[in-house]
Amino acid sequence: MLINLHSHLEGRVRPATAAELDPRGGDAREWADALRLDAPGDLTAYLAKVAASYPLFARLDAIERIAREAVEDAAAAGGDYLELRFGPATHAGGLGILEVIRAAVRGMRAASAASGMPSGLVVAALRHHPAEVNDEVARAAARLAGEGVVGFDLAGDEALHPELSVHRDAFAIARAAGLGLTCHAAEAGPASAAREAVELLGVTRIGHGVHIVDDPEVLRWASDSGVVVETCPTSNWYTGGVALIAAHPAPRLRDAGVRLVLGDDNPVQTGVELAEERALLQTRFGWTAEQLGELDRVSIDAAFLHPHEHDDLLGRLAVEAGSSRSTPTADGRGPTHP
Ligand SMILES: [Zn+2]
Repeated sequence: MLINLHSHLEGRVRPATAAELDPRGGDAREWADALRLDAPGDLTAYLAKVAASYPLFARLDAIERIAREAVEDAAAAGGDYLELRFGPATHAGGLGILEVIRAAVRGMRAASAASGMPSGLVVAALRHHPAEVNDEVARAAARLAGEGVVGFDLAGDEALHPELSVHRDAFAIARAAGLGLTCHAAEAGPASAAREAVELLGVTRIGHGVHIVDDPEVLRWASDSGVVVETCPTSNWYTGGVALIAAHPAPRLRDAGVRLVLGDDNPVQTGVELAEERALLQTRFGWTAEQLGELDRVSIDAAFLHPHEHDDLLGRLAVEAGSSRSTPTADGRGPTHP
């Protein structure tokens, strides 16, 4: 199954759409070059490429269109569920944070209704924004909880802004509204940052977490606590989180019993979508069909889905397991650790 639990709206802008939205004019080829990463670097350089898309989010109709197309593209690629995230305060300007989120939700809902693929929006606070701004983002996300917004995240440059405790109030607001909680951590920061995110912010999922394997104690904690790690191997290579794809910690996390799910992070920047990331697990890291089935089960369990969508995906997983293996699980549920 293709359950995408870590994907940024700003990383899914079609170059052709960028050319149309660009007030200066421009063509799709130029935009493809402007958005695409040439080679691995560091997180700061990576985020600059993602930020190249920001001027395109200056109007509500543009945000709605980009969000609609992002869901359309994931559905057309065979996706089963897309959890899309973005930081609305970056794009709010005079538009207002709430209206910016509403525009993204409108686009996503239209594409989900047309394609039949469910989607949910994870609203992101940003590390470089003041706590008051992130509190306002959380309040806006909370108002739309259950109406297209499913989760809350902290994103941005962990290397430059490692501090987490200043964002506690924002996460408390999101938690009180029933939103799922995740945080980019241990991506450019140390292993301990993942544990801090869970303990300080109350998150149940960690974005990337590549450095968790650097500290045996944190690795053991990650396995014992049941925290879910959203892994995005190709993106981690481009950010310099791992020096080589072959050195990616996903197999070590899996073998240690850490619950893993998959995302494609910023596919326009990396040129790699979820299906390729999933194939990478199999071809480069030796994931077996059973281990991929486990990935699917954990993904459905960890997704910030509405209950009926959760059950729909479990049903599809059971059907898929029945058609591809001789030992299907009766209801799609299984042990949460490989
Ligand atoms: Zn991310």
